[in-house]
Amino acid sequence: MDFNKIKEMGLEYAEKGKNAALDLAEKGKTQALIVSEQGKLLKAQRQLGALVYSLAKGKEENQPLVDKYIEMIDSIEQEIARLKASLTPAEAAEVDYVVHEDVPAEEPEAPAAEAHKSCPQCGAPVSDDALFCNKCGAQL
Ligand SMILES: [Zn+2]
Repeated sequence: MDFNKIKEMGLEYAEKGKNAALDLAEKGKTQALIVSEQGKLLKAQRQLGALVYSLAKGKEENQPLVDKYIEMIDSIEQEIARLKASLTPAEAAEVDYVVHEDVPAEEPEAPAAEAHKSCPQCGAPVSDDALFCNKCGAQL
């Protein structure tokens, strides 16, 4: 093996190393994005659960609002699936692990003091975490 060949190989490896580092940064970004999408998903699911519960309790129906939450959950799930598709199964599993580590099981909620905000559209009181106004359905 002559010297030039060795130099060539060295350059090739250096180039590969650079690409691997770039890949890693990209993957980290994707994983961080998935974690943040998972957080949004959890929040939307929790809100939908709370909405369905309060509707059922009051024997009310608000299908358009329920549909809005379902639509939002669907689109977040699709985004997560799209992002996960660009990762290897091991990397995707890593993300799931991070998500389970980071999300507190159930934060205690102040029962009576739920309405801190009001809807910019109709002025109805809305809970801090609500994604849509319960009265007019405006996105918050
Ligand atoms: Zn409203």
